Amino acid sequence: MAELVLDGVTKHFDDDGDRIVAVDDASIDIEDGEFLVLVGPSGCGKSTTLRMVAGLETVSGGELRLDGTDISDRAPADRDVAMVFQSYALYPHMTVRENMAFGLEESTDMADDVIDERVSETAEMMGIEELLERKPRELSGGQQQRVALGRAIVRDPEVFLMDEPLSNLDAKLRSTMRTELQRLQENLGVTTVYVTHDQTEAMTMGDRIAILNDGRLQQVATPLEAYHAPANEFVAGFLGEPSMNFFDASVEDGSLITDQFTYPLSEDTLDDLGGADDVRLGVRPEDIELVEKPVGDHDYAVTVDVVEPLGDENNVYLEFDLDTEGEGAGRTFTAAVDGTHPVAAGDELGARIPESAIHIFDVDSGVALHNRERDPDEQVIPQ
Ligand code: ATP
Repeated sequence: MAELVLDGVTKHFDDDGDRIVAVDDASIDIEDGEFLVLVGPSGCGKSTTLRMVAGLETVSGGELRLDGTDISDRAPADRDVAMVFQSYALYPHMTVRENMAFGLEESTDMADDVIDERVSETAEMMGIEELLERKPRELSGGQQQRVALGRAIVRDPEVFLMDEPLSNLDAKLRSTMRTELQRLQENLGVTTVYVTHDQTEAMTMGDRIAILNDGRLQQVATPLEAYHAPANEFVAGFLGEPSMNFFDASVEDGSLITDQFTYPLSEDTLDDLGGADDVRLGVRPEDIELVEKPVGDHDYAVTVDVVEPLGDENNVYLEFDLDTEGEGAGRTFTAAVDGTHPVAAGDELGARIPESAIHIFDVDSGVALHNRERDPDEQVIPQ
């Protein structure tokens, strides 16, 4: 059993008298066996959060609890956590076997033959038994990362902490290792906190994801919840590639008025806005449909500016057809359509923005006032 709780955890750094708030009052309950991904842009406080859990940074405020016990002031070696870094951090002068055995030799009183057996078992599980007598310099990047993971696993810790462990690998290997790591974590059932700036990694690997920005926790949710029901504009814009399209709008006579178009709203959607006057409309590229001609209330005349073919999908950059040269003219936005959909630069089409797919955010706070409709089946996601 290892339930890890971050309760109002805060970290300040002092930079020549200036106070840097790296992590501001973060609270997350991580369940036993859960795979939690901490994700956010560079400098948002992900590594600092992980390092506080590992005991490599002190906490400035709040508490860290492992199974109900406050571990905030415990030395790293006494926390029963194992950390895996981006840089692998293997000892270059030791063989793989020695690297894997080192932690157990240092921190336990296990007999040598027991350690040896544990190392061999783990090496077999990781598919690195042929590499045991090699030195790190004789290994590829992928093999080194496998050894680094093996070294964490062999310690049989209560919690794995992983800081961008796959980012030094090439794209193909990264994707293979992603699946492998997930399977391994599921089989071992060890509570895991995984840091990445890569939203694809977060979406595909996490049971839940915790999105950080500027030291502040924005949302903790399953990947699909965060994607389809973002708590705010930051989360909505951070998750998804290409990003959500945003349009500034005012609410007038039951419609959203933007510089480019007027978007009539249903009563239900209007109710969600609680009388807000200024909002931001958000729509994901994959929710925009391209139709031959604008015919409906939510269809707009557009010209295709650029098509980016990705094979399975085309990213289509669209420009509103505006009569004036005024504000909003030349504004492009993105639609993602099936790769087989025939579309070319210069095409004049209709862009349909279905009301069931729109998000509306408060313009000042960024808080989501209205999120897209969701398929009830899709909400049955294992937690
Ligand atoms: P990245 O993805 O780039 O590694 P991150 O999300 O992991 O970023 P952190 O490394 O946790 O971000 O840094 C959070 C903030 O704290 C940043 O503004 C960083 O400059 C600052 N910071 C981190 N370590 C220190 C330190 N030892 N002294 C001063 N400031 C620090």
